[in-house]
Formats: sequence, structure tokens, C-alpha cells
Amino acid sequence: ASVSDELTAAIRTIPDYPRKGILFRDITTLLGNAKAFRQAVDALVQPWAGSKIDQIVGIEARGFILGGAVAHQLSAGFVPIRKAGKLPYETVSASYSLEYGLDEIEIHKDAIQPGQKVILVDDLIATGGTAEAAINLLRSVGADIVAACFIIDLPDLGGRKKIEALGVPVRTLVEFE
Ligand code: IMP
Repeated sequence: ASVSDELTAAIRTIPDYPRKGILFRDITTLLGNAKAFRQAVDALVQPWAGSKIDQIVGIEARGFILGGAVAHQLSAGFVPIRKAGKLPYETVSASYSLEYGLDEIEIHKDAIQPGQKVILVDDLIATGGTAEAAINLLRSVGADIVAACFIIDLPDLGGRKKIEALGVPVRTLVEFE
């Protein structure tokens, strides 16, 4: 089987979570599968193997797990983007709209030096709203965003197109309807 097929098989789908009608794609089964976890990390960063990337930026919370492994693989640093109120030092923040209401994410104001090359990592892109807010945040602190990487793309929700329209290349490994 292809890597993409093996990764797809390692992801669990939970119907009606967190709400009725939602098919939740659960990567904890992929993370708990040693072979699939390694394949996912290797495949995500394969285009940048041997390039100089300064920082991997992970989005809370599943982006932390993948981002840490990716940072080690590329010999880069790791920088967290967190929900508002969780980071201890001075932050820069960005708001974005959810289906109901607003959410806010933050980064430490000194986590990225202007011009540093960064790759954004999360488990899944759906509408792209979260990644767009993260990109706005990273640009406001002067990051040079090389790419945004996700294990899962839900192409029907249009996130990839939204992020590519911002001038950021998108890499994903598996798709679900
Ligand atoms: P977006 O902002 O609409 O692109 O949603 C992406 C964010 O929601 C990411 O941080 C994902 O971790 C989370 N998310 C949305 N749907 C799922 C899912 O089915 N499984 C896991 N995470 C999800």
C-alpha cells in the first residue's frame, strides 16, 4: 500500500463528535502506531529535507505533537501558537471567526526573529480559518513562511485554496470528503 493509504488506514473516524453530524478525524490512532507516526513526520517534511528552516510553528494542541517531531527531523526550533491566555510572556494575538463566535490565538512576541524561515504545522485543515489566523500572526512578527503542512485535508471545505491565495504553499498527506 502507498504511504497515503497506510496513513489513511491509521486514522480513526468518530461519527457525531464533538456534535451530531460531524465526522471527527482522530489522529491519536496514527500517533500511537509507531510506523505510521514516523511515516507521517518523514513525508510531511520530505520537500525540505536538508534545507535551512529556522522554526517549526505548531498550533495547539495536536500541532505541538507533530511540530516537535518535525522540528527534530529538520534540526529546527519549535514555537507554539496557543489559545489566548496560555502563554506566560508578552504575546501578539490574532482573532478569527468560528461557526459560532470568535476565537483568539497568540504567539510570544519574541519567538520569531524577523526574516526567519518557518513552517506551520497542524493535524488537519478544514476551512483554513485557524491556519489563516496563524499566518497573519506570523507575518505580523516578520516570519518568512515557507509552507503550511497538515496530515489531513478536507478539500470540500476550501482551506487549501484559502491558504494558497495568501501566498503560502500547502502540503497535505491524506484527504477525506
Ligand atoms: P479550520 O480552521 O476550519 O481549518 O479547522 C482546523 C482546526 O480544527 C485544526 O486546528 C484542527 O485540529 C481542528 N479540526 C477540525 N476538524 C477536525 C477533525 O475532524 N479532526 C481533528 N481536528 C479537527
